[in-house]
Amino acid sequence: MLNDMISNCKLCLQIKNLRRSHIIPEFIYKPLYSSEHHKMIEIKEGLPGLLQKGYREELLCQDCENHLNVNFEHPSVEIWKTLTSQKASKTITVREVRDNQQNRALVFNGIDYSTFKLFLLSIIWRVSISRHSYFQKVNLGPHEEKIRQMLLSINPGKHYDYPCIINLLSESAFTPIYIPKESPRYEGHRSFRVLLTNVMIWYVISSHSEQADINGLAIKENGSLVATMLSPKKVALLRDAIDLAKNTDIPDYMFK
Ligand SMILES: [Zn+2]
Repeated sequence: MLNDMISNCKLCLQIKNLRRSHIIPEFIYKPLYSSEHHKMIEIKEGLPGLLQKGYREELLCQDCENHLNVNFEHPSVEIWKTLTSQKASKTITVREVRDNQQNRALVFNGIDYSTFKLFLLSIIWRVSISRHSYFQKVNLGPHEEKIRQMLLSINPGKHYDYPCIINLLSESAFTPIYIPKESPRYEGHRSFRVLLTNVMIWYVISSHSEQADINGLAIKENGSLVATMLSPKKVALLRDAIDLAKNTDIPDYMFK
């Protein structure tokens, strides 16, 4: 086929026909489709634009596409729905907790740790290996290879290995896929934030994060996850993302 590209698959490293792989899995984009326009928003560097489809790039062979789909993506759809809707499902429970300052968090239980941790890591890994200019600011360096091996061997490591922390929006707001420019340090560790609609994922990318306080919030081996609630009005990153989304051609009702 003319469209085939033969090169090294980024996951198994073998020379194969490469598929046009999604960087951000398609089901995450779904809330971004508007029923009127059937379009999807993509936020570029300060320049909102509209795309018909999620961005794809020749990255993986068919076997590795299947590997990610079957082992991580497909089984994560229900978990993702639970997070985005903030409601329990057949297998996942949700309860609200508050601290002394009345800060809210949702505690999820019943999440398949290995599946969901590797699903989350597969996103930041794809963002890191992508050549698209929008994703240039995320570069995992030597951790890219370590995470590749974890994904290939279905090894999620411990909760403190590349801890993944989830924040959720406390009020409904229409938010896009957004990756901020800066990569902040948390307790001295490198971290990356990726906002996927109303879910923000913090990745702590460090080889010595075992003692980090933030591990208390990471998705855990026992299937629990504490998602702190953020007000979109108070968090600059979310405000920026929402403002950018508002400047695009999205019907008003999507913001309500
Ligand atoms: Zn492959």
